[in-house]
Amino acid sequence: MRETNWRASAGCRGSDPELFFPIGSGTSFATLAQSDAAKAVCGRCPVARECLEWALDVAVEGVWGGTTETERRAIRRRGA
Ligand code: SF4
Repeated sequence: MRETNWRASAGCRGSDPELFFPIGSGTSFATLAQSDAAKAVCGRCPVARECLEWALDVAVEGVWGGTTETERRAIRRRGA
């Protein structure tokens, strides 16, 4: 199991968790806008790399490490 100590430094601490779990169709304007807003938070996060590695392992829904689950599936397929 991967370490999760990085969570103490998460840039999203104090953010509304719902921001990171967009609802609706993955291609709707509202969903994409919400994903972009969440990714902007991730873009300022000091532990984004650790968060992404964790999310790639656990296959969780939502925006983690600056990526959506759809994007992480693509990363997994590429074997990155
Ligand atoms: S990368 Fe994004 S989701 Fe992950 S800890 Fe940082 S702000 Fe939170």
